[in-house]
Amino acid sequence: MALRGAPDLSGTGLYAEYPFLPGAEALAEELAASLRVLLEDPSLERARELGRARVLASVEDPRASVALEELAHASAGERFLSFQYARVLLGATGTPAPQRRWAVAESKRAWGRLKEAPVEELLTVARRLGHDFGTEGDEVTIPLVDYLRLATPIREGDFRLGHQRLAQGHVRVDRARGARLLEEGIRRQLSVPLPLDPEVRQRLAETESELLEEVRRRTPAPVARPRFRGGALAAAAFPPCIRKMRRTLEEGENLSHAGRFALAAFLHRVGADPETIVDAFRGAPDFDEGITRYQVEHITRHDEGQGYTPPECATLRSHGLCVREGDPTAPDPTDRVRDEICFRPSLTHPLEYYRIRSGPSRPAAPGGAPDTSGAPGRTPSTDRRR
Ligand code: SF4
Repeated sequence: MALRGAPDLSGTGLYAEYPFLPGAEALAEELAASLRVLLEDPSLERARELGRARVLASVEDPRASVALEELAHASAGERFLSFQYARVLLGATGTPAPQRRWAVAESKRAWGRLKEAPVEELLTVARRLGHDFGTEGDEVTIPLVDYLRLATPIREGDFRLGHQRLAQGHVRVDRARGARLLEEGIRRQLSVPLPLDPEVRQRLAETESELLEEVRRRTPAPVARPRFRGGALAAAAFPPCIRKMRRTLEEGENLSHAGRFALAAFLHRVGADPETIVDAFRGAPDFDEGITRYQVEHITRHDEGQGYTPPECATLRSHGLCVREGDPTAPDPTDRVRDEICFRPSLTHPLEYYRIRSGPSRPAAPGGAPDTSGAPGRTPSTDRRR
């Protein structure tokens, strides 16, 4: 990625490149752009147009794999205001999925810059976001608490704390990894919708109705009731961990690498067809149809169509994916309480749970020894970089 010149790290240039940083309101004031002005002023139409483009691009391409050409030609002020307008637009969509896809796209755009920017820029952005990054030689040092906060949702196994070098309460990483960690922090911050005044929401519903409708139509929708080969299958027979993984995706939340693999492999083994498995991932904030299909095929065609065996309970537990104690955040009260089947000493595998709950006519538990190694390296709808 060709970088625009290094921004003035104390001034407005920084906010044009990183418009989500605390303090960016100062630039809005400098540009004399209150929310009302941003919504109405004819001279800001180009910024609004760019804001619409940012939103639509994220719906189609949440990985921001294709650079948004218009951004490269816009002024610093237009880039900044277009970001603010996009955020307001997303607040008016009324559903969380577009917001989460946009958060992925904008955080990746920031990552594209941060990984090549001078280290001072990386440190400035980190510190403005409240993470006390430092340097030690060529490496970036991150306080342990910050590292855990940023790295926990990242799916790659090599971000786990056990693989890091720790010294004096700090984790040492290379620049690229520091940028990746910040990307995660930015994604989480931007996943939260901007609270909108009902009047503003109503105005946008009128003036941007076409755009909002297009966003809703083009955003992949999570599918809650999958179809199965050979007829319907009672999803209530799924073990708590699998039910939780499906809920996570249906709510548009990120699911870990290990969770994605476990869910796809489990659905395949209980008889879901590839189409159904792809559908289960449509709610992921980084859902990409092509990549998901490719990865589902990889999982389900393994071993002449037998597919990978989903990980056993001990492996899921080590990845923090076992919820046998109950999930306090679940909307259904039955999911909030401890599941007694899961506590049977003989229960070692989610497929055994499924067999117990669904009866003897259901598909058999995995043939051969369960694969306890975790994931095969590719999981549905994941970024190849992740
Ligand atoms: S005990 Fe096994 S089947 Fe039950 S929630 Fe945990 S991992 Fe899933």
